[in-house]
Amino acid sequence: MSANPIPAKPPLIWANALMFAVTFAAAAVLVPWYGLKYGFTGADWAVFAFFLIANGMAITAGYHRLWAHRTYDAHLVLRIFYLIFGTMALQNSAFIWCSGHRSHHLYVDDVDRDPYSARRGFWFSHIGWMLREYPSGKPDFTNIPDLKKDRLLDFQHRHYVALAVGLNFGLPILAGVIFHDLWGMLILAGVLRLVWSHHVTFFINSLAHMWGTRPYTEDNTARDNPALAVVTYGEGYHNFHHIFAHDYRNGVRWWQWDPTKWLIAGLEPVGLTRRLKRTPWFQVERALLAMQFKRAERRLADLTSPGHSHIEQLRARVAHEYEAFLAAIADWARVKEQWLEEKRRAVIEHWQQSELQGKLREIERALSRQRRRMRVLHAQLA
Ligand SMILES: [Zn+2]
Ligand SMILES: [Zn+2]
Repeated sequence: MSANPIPAKPPLIWANALMFAVTFAAAAVLVPWYGLKYGFTGADWAVFAFFLIANGMAITAGYHRLWAHRTYDAHLVLRIFYLIFGTMALQNSAFIWCSGHRSHHLYVDDVDRDPYSARRGFWFSHIGWMLREYPSGKPDFTNIPDLKKDRLLDFQHRHYVALAVGLNFGLPILAGVIFHDLWGMLILAGVLRLVWSHHVTFFINSLAHMWGTRPYTEDNTARDNPALAVVTYGEGYHNFHHIFAHDYRNGVRWWQWDPTKWLIAGLEPVGLTRRLKRTPWFQVERALLAMQFKRAERRLADLTSPGHSHIEQLRARVAHEYEAFLAAIADWARVKEQWLEEKRRAVIEHWQQSELQGKLREIERALSRQRRRMRVLHAQLA
C-alpha cells in the first residue's frame, strides 16, 4: 500500500451542501422573478422582516449570549421564543451550536481545533467548515454539561430535523394563508429570510475575524467592526467579545450599535432576563490601555533616529504614562482586595463600602483620562 502524499478531503456532508446550494439558488432566482412578475405585498415584507429579526436575535441573544456563554438568565417564556426562532434559523441544535462555539473560543485560530478557524481562510470560516466532515468540527458535548441538563434543549436536539423543517415551511405557510399570498410569503419570509439570516450570521465567523480593528487584544484574529454590528444585531464588536465573552454586551459603550444587548437589558425590568453579567469598567479600560502601550512601543521601535530630541521626549512620556498605568493597576487591586476582605469579614459599614467604591471609581476615571492622553501621544507618534 503506498501512502498518499496529498491528504484526502473529508467526505462531503450532502444534506448541508444541498440545503445551502438550493436555498441560495432559489433566493437568487425566485425573488427577482416573482417580484417582477407578481410583486410582493407589504405584508410579505413585514413578515419577512419579523422572521429575519426573530431568527437573528434568537441566535445572538439566545444561542450565543444565553446558552453558549451564560451571560444572563432568561425566563422560560423567553427561552421558548429563542428555541422556536433559533430552530427556524436552521443553524443546528443549540447543543451542537454551543458546543462548537465554546471550542471556537477556547481554541480560537487553532487550525486543528477551532471548528471555524479564520486562519483557514474566508470560505472555510464562513461556510466551508459545515460542508465536510472536518475533524475540527466533530461535536464534543463534554463542554456543554450545563446545557445537557436542560430538558427543553434536549427536546430540541432530539427532534431537531422535524422541528426545523416544520417551522421553516409551517410558519411562512401560516403567514401566507393569513395574508392571502402563499407564494410571495414562501419566497420572501421563507427562502430569502433563511438565506439572508444564514449569511449574516456566518459573517461573524468569517469577516469579524478578518476586517476591523483590534482595540482590546491582538492575541487572536477577532475584530471590532461597527458596519458588521449593524447587520448582525451587535455581534460585530467581536474583538471585545473574544476577550470578555462572559459579558452580555458585545458593544460595551452605550452608543455602540448592539440591539442584542438592548433587548437583553430592556427585558430585565419586566423580569424576562436576570443576572446580567458586566465586565468591571476597570478591566475594559485596562485592556484598552495595554493595547495602546503595545502599539506605542512598536511605533517607537520603528522610529529610528537615535538622539532625535522630539522622539526621545515622546519615548519618555510614554514610559512615564506606563509607570502611572502600572501604579493604577496595583492601586486598584489593593483597594479591591481591601473591599472584598472587609465584605468577607462582614464588618464593613455602609459608608466604608461606598468610600472604597468611590476610590475604585476614581482609579477608573484616572485610567480613562490616561487613555485620552495616550490617544494624543499616538497622534504625535503617527
Ligand atoms: Zn469568533
Ligand atoms: Zn462567542
